[in-house]
Amino acid sequence: MDGPGLAPYAARPELSRGRRYSEPDAPGRSAFQRDRDRVVHSSAFRRLEYKTQVFVNHEGDLFRTRLTHSLEVAQIGRAIARQLAVNEDLVEAIALAHDLGHTPFGHAGQDALHECMKEHGGFEHNLQSLRVVDELEERYGGFNGLNLAFETREGILKHCSLENARKLGEVGERFLHRRQPSLEAQIANLADEIAYNNHDIDDGLRSGLLQLAQLEDVPLFAHHAREVREQFPEIGERRMVNETVRRMINALIVDLATETARRIEAAHPASIDDVRQAGPLVAFSADVRKEADALKSFLLNNLYRHYRVMRMTKKARRVVSELFRAFHDEPRLLPLDHQARAAEDKARAIADYVAGMTDRYAMKEHQRLFAISDG
Ligand code: MG
Repeated sequence: MDGPGLAPYAARPELSRGRRYSEPDAPGRSAFQRDRDRVVHSSAFRRLEYKTQVFVNHEGDLFRTRLTHSLEVAQIGRAIARQLAVNEDLVEAIALAHDLGHTPFGHAGQDALHECMKEHGGFEHNLQSLRVVDELEERYGGFNGLNLAFETREGILKHCSLENARKLGEVGERFLHRRQPSLEAQIANLADEIAYNNHDIDDGLRSGLLQLAQLEDVPLFAHHAREVREQFPEIGERRMVNETVRRMINALIVDLATETARRIEAAHPASIDDVRQAGPLVAFSADVRKEADALKSFLLNNLYRHYRVMRMTKKARRVVSELFRAFHDEPRLLPLDHQARAAEDKARAIADYVAGMTDRYAMKEHQRLFAISDG
């Protein structure tokens, strides 16, 4: 929603700080709607379909991928934005772009690539998402990247070291001055957390890595599950899980919107710049924050560190580091356009190439380079 229905502290496309390369306005679409469209048409966005969230893509058709995760983040983010009368289009653009920089194999891939890049400025998926939209997409005759509006780029860059912030110009400044981004960016960030906490429970149970009985110790899940069982005593397990997760998502959205509205009223921001100067305004209530943290640490200990996930993680790290090392030792193994980039900055060009791979492309490329029997 743009225009008169927006709260005064919402991001307004007509007051945007603009794009890096100036472009005429598009008839019928605001700057942020246009950014969302640019993200959806990017090749990095299409590749999210074949990138791991927690489960490697080929493990099953029903698990979340980075693409379905990003769609869930956008949907949750828009629901929150609508309740707070801030800019839904901007939240959507940020949410759809937030994971564009993810390596294959999720966090395992990112950790391995960071290790490989230690001597060359490191690798961080969040910074890479910005790099994808600023530099790596090749869709315009006149410039690299998607030339997104400042507010979208500000939202994509969730965190950043001070060293990197200094190199990023305008979009890095808030890290140096310890300021907040727009409400829309803060919403996209917490919508991400709501999405993964809930869908990882669902995927964890579906995969058999988590058992329902374990979740009885997680207050946020347990109390909704109890209510569902009371209301539907005959309910089957699969449907019970779905109904419980659905209620959890709703409860988190309602709590976040309520607590945020309370904070907005107390801080009384009159503009997006007041929002940037204030403390974090988008937040859960203290009780729900505690419950959400308990759920997070449950997932860390029981799902992300499950031995079967760890085995996958171990292999993923190996694939990513061996690919990086092979290309670094011999850049002529790179496809030609990446060789051209490597001539300017070898390590970064290789990191860009490896980070852009889907899970299955990385495995195929690894086979092509290391399997004796496969040409
Ligand atoms: Mg995410």
